[in-house]
Amino acid sequence: MSRIARKKQKNLLRSVATQRMWRLFELAEKEFEEHPERSERYVQLIRNISMRNRMRVPREIKRRICKHCYAFLVPGVNARYRLKGGYIVTSCERCGKEMRYPYRGLKKQVMEKGEVKRKKP
Ligand SMILES: [Zn+2]
Repeated sequence: MSRIARKKQKNLLRSVATQRMWRLFELAEKEFEEHPERSERYVQLIRNISMRNRMRVPREIKRRICKHCYAFLVPGVNARYRLKGGYIVTSCERCGKEMRYPYRGLKKQVMEKGEVKRKKP
């Protein structure tokens, strides 16, 4: 197989893998209320796909998985989200640990405009 064909093949495999991760994520969300243990299983499958294909878990999905205990996080149920100095701080209620992610939208706005404009009440 030529180099280009191999690259195309790889891209195809990756896009299929990404689709599978999103599908599993949707299932995890759907099942969480009644079968939280199934959500855990879906998280495991998402991680397996990511490792096997050596690719990252999409950011939106990653933020819903505890990076310490791999719990599937549902805001207001087993996770708390708050903003702190340009970061979104997520705390997992299962293991009690916190994760921090830069809150990019806000940061960019701050850098471009020098301040964050608030809507008047
Ligand atoms: Zn956790």
